[in-house]
Amino acid sequence: MRIFDAHCDTVFRMWEEPHLSFKDSTDLHVTWDGLKNADARVQCFAIYIPENVRPESKFDVALEMIDIFYRDILQRFPKMKLVTSKRDMLHLKEDEVGAILTLEGCDAIGNSLERLRTLFRLGVSSVGLTWNYANAVADGILEERGAGLSSFGKQVVLENNDHFIWTDVSHLSEKGFWEVLDIGRYVIASHSNCKKICHNPRNLTDEQIKALIEKDAAMGVTFVPQFLSNNPECNISDVIRHIDHICSLGGIDHIGFGSDFDGITKTVSGLSRYEDYASLVNTLLKYYSNTEVEGFLYGNFFKRFPK
Ligand SMILES: [Zn+2]
Repeated sequence: MRIFDAHCDTVFRMWEEPHLSFKDSTDLHVTWDGLKNADARVQCFAIYIPENVRPESKFDVALEMIDIFYRDILQRFPKMKLVTSKRDMLHLKEDEVGAILTLEGCDAIGNSLERLRTLFRLGVSSVGLTWNYANAVADGILEERGAGLSSFGKQVVLENNDHFIWTDVSHLSEKGFWEVLDIGRYVIASHSNCKKICHNPRNLTDEQIKALIEKDAAMGVTFVPQFLSNNPECNISDVIRHIDHICSLGGIDHIGFGSDFDGITKTVSGLSRYEDYASLVNTLLKYYSNTEVEGFLYGNFFKRFPK
């Protein structure tokens, strides 16, 4: 079954450790070999700028990561194709894998819409407004102040709307979340789980999940152990609990996956690298129909891609 994964930090890991090979490095969760072996169809690659990069260097670092994405992923693996539209995804050949470039947190653009539009031209198709802390656009979920969007942040969301770009609410403060639901046209939560099941601030409340469903947004269940279970150890059945819960809220057609592979060090037992999607698929098929599982794995994100 073909897979659409809405979030990984592989490009960030390759920037951090330039010797890592995308082909088959055992220090990467997502590799070309892994994608091929586990029937990947579309993988989102996030540009995430670590907190310790000086503000004036953040845009340069974003460009360095985009260069890695183009040179070390797309150019070296010609079967990996940049995709920026549904048409691109539909035209992928059997042996090709689509790659979507995404931004995780607007720190890199400072307060410049020109920089944002430049990133669109370089292929960015989804914009997460924040990581965990504050930037010129909004407060992240761990910023104590808990503010929503700045005036500039609202302009960013409108710019996303105008360019058919996803606005990603994962990591965003709760106030910011509700403001995006108000003014955003193409909203997703790329990698977030249910707070009702696991009480982590990064997870979404039932009210937030219901609002995403109401907005016809997709939500990527993520494989971050701290977001899956209140216990230190977790396995695939914990992922299923979150899916069951979103279904109980009416979200069966809104569930997808955003693994956060390469953004995590501790992994779910039995789901510790891309290849392990195969076990998740087998488990899902015990509880859900073929059509439902196809929706979780691919269709629910695909059909909401804005262009
Ligand atoms: Zn993240």
